[in-house]
Amino acid sequence: MKIGFDIDGTLQSKPKFYSFLIKVLRYFNVEIIVITGRSRFDGIGLTDFQMRTWDIRFDKIFLREDYENLVTEADFAGNLDKQIGVAKARLCKKLGVYLMVDDMEEVIEACKTEGVRYWKA
Ligand SMILES: [Mg+2]
Repeated sequence: MKIGFDIDGTLQSKPKFYSFLIKVLRYFNVEIIVITGRSRFDGIGLTDFQMRTWDIRFDKIFLREDYENLVTEADFAGNLDKQIGVAKARLCKKLGVYLMVDDMEEVIEACKTEGVRYWKA
């Protein structure tokens, strides 16, 4: 089973809680997929450092550039958060993510539309 986690406003807001939860999930062979709106331009260095500091291990990480191509021209609402939301939800669908944990309303709305289970952080 795959479970998706956002970073900013999610893992970053309660690192101790998520570190524990993710350890338990990994014990039960749940695949941890980190899906973040962070860009490669923000640098993967900080993210790596934070994840090590928070003691959060994951199986795969997707940065914005890895999934932003999942939106079409029709999705461009002039709202970057909405576009990221749609792209994240579509990536979850594509990967077969069982549950996406995210704090952003736009992601939750897109999960509803795309039929992806979600947990609002
Ligand atoms: Mg977030």
